[in-house]
Amino acid sequence: MSEGPASLPTPSSLPGRRRLRFAPSPTGALHIGNVRTALFNYCLAGPEGRFLLRIEDTDRERYRPESVLEYQAELRWLGLLWDEGPDLGGPCAPYVESERLPLYRTAADQLVAEGNAYPCFCSRERLEELRAAQRAGGLPTRYDRRCLHLSPDEVSELRAEGRPEVVRLRMPEGESAWDDLVLGPQRFDNAEIDDQVLLKSDGYPTYHLAHVVDDHLMGVTHVVRAVEWLPSTPKHLVLYRALGWSPPELAHVPLVLGPDRQKLAKRHGAAAVSEYREMGYLPEALVNFLAFLGWSPGTEEEVFTLSELRARMTFERLQSSPAVFDGQRLDYLNGVWIRRLSPGELGRRLGPFLPQASAEQLEPIAEMVQERIRRLDEVPGLLAFAWTDPEPSASMLHGSLSRMAAHDFLETALPVFQRGPGGLMDALRALASSAAASSAVGAKAEVRRLMRVVRIALTGQEVSPPLDACARLLGPDVVDRRLRRALEELRGSADL
Ligand code: GLU
Repeated sequence: MSEGPASLPTPSSLPGRRRLRFAPSPTGALHIGNVRTALFNYCLAGPEGRFLLRIEDTDRERYRPESVLEYQAELRWLGLLWDEGPDLGGPCAPYVESERLPLYRTAADQLVAEGNAYPCFCSRERLEELRAAQRAGGLPTRYDRRCLHLSPDEVSELRAEGRPEVVRLRMPEGESAWDDLVLGPQRFDNAEIDDQVLLKSDGYPTYHLAHVVDDHLMGVTHVVRAVEWLPSTPKHLVLYRALGWSPPELAHVPLVLGPDRQKLAKRHGAAAVSEYREMGYLPEALVNFLAFLGWSPGTEEEVFTLSELRARMTFERLQSSPAVFDGQRLDYLNGVWIRRLSPGELGRRLGPFLPQASAEQLEPIAEMVQERIRRLDEVPGLLAFAWTDPEPSASMLHGSLSRMAAHDFLETALPVFQRGPGGLMDALRALASSAAASSAVGAKAEVRRLMRVVRIALTGQEVSPPLDACARLLGPDVVDRRLRRALEELRGSADL
């Protein structure tokens, strides 16, 4: 008994609920632009809807297996958790196109059987020659439909010869139009569009076929993607129609530009999400920042959590003009988010940046730096003094003061430090003020210079957290040792 033709399963749906997806191709690092797309899909699904992750790994030449896990880790880090995957109930794995090949084959067979697609046996060499000739003649490069007219016998013969075969979409006449949720009405003349390959000779579908089959079967209600994909949309609409399906709503979000108003690229700074993490940006800040690249709440509010964004983002408030990536704004928001964390939480986030710090040190460190930093990666530099003994020279210590003034002030400061960090700052300032009062130069500047001597003695750094916090981090023994060493250094030669 022969089997009947394969048929496609019934699409998933949640009546009345939105289903949106992020569908990256795992071909390299996850870039900030991709994440913006993921975020918009996540938020526009709304609190009641579903957000899916689909790995579009059908381009086997560009496929990078490690990207699949990387993307999932980055999305989790950002909090962009997908709501379902193929093994329902289990820990959520994403949908993966290479695991769904029979579905695309079934769709391609159906398209061929109904005359909407056709097998093509043209060799790579022939296609290259064709393109070269078209280019030389100043014509657009496109397939010349040679195989569209093969008879069934010719097809069988070519198959019998074992010739590599692809399936091409037969682009119908007419036009493809839709009302884009961001860009408004769009119209493309089908005559301008090539007969796209749908199924490749390696048996894998191209992006176009897999994408349409999956968006349909996964019950995707809204497709939100970057405007670069606009030229693919007419092909997708033709496929939907040929397969007898109604297309989802379509929204193309604007380009992200660098500050020079050119398309955002590596030269504008880091582009991969992992690089932003390594630079010490918080996921909360990145998400908050990226939301504004193409969306605005229509109010003056500027700080949003991910769940607020999911509740607030609407298609109506998406913008069609290009968004400009402003690194200073990202830094500003990161500072805001750093200050929103509890010291305990900030300490945990700082852990990877401070491998030398013990677990108990992290929270006090967080308290020390919370008001002063915009990025977590500033902290190792700010606290470099804590793990390496600074050995400032005499001239570094006294700076523009006389060596004797620096020495004498430090000598009076030593017992103040010995009383412990509580009240230290006030006591030091009082000491510096009375020392400065006897000085001829401007007293305020003199106080600063005197305090600087202590800072350099303790940390070797021109910039550091407040001295009492530094003293607490270092502990009394280290403080004592460093101050005494600095005194020795200033005493140095006998000419004091
Ligand atoms: N796989 C495509 C990408 O890498 C998906 C584009 C789309 O969402 O249509 O971006």
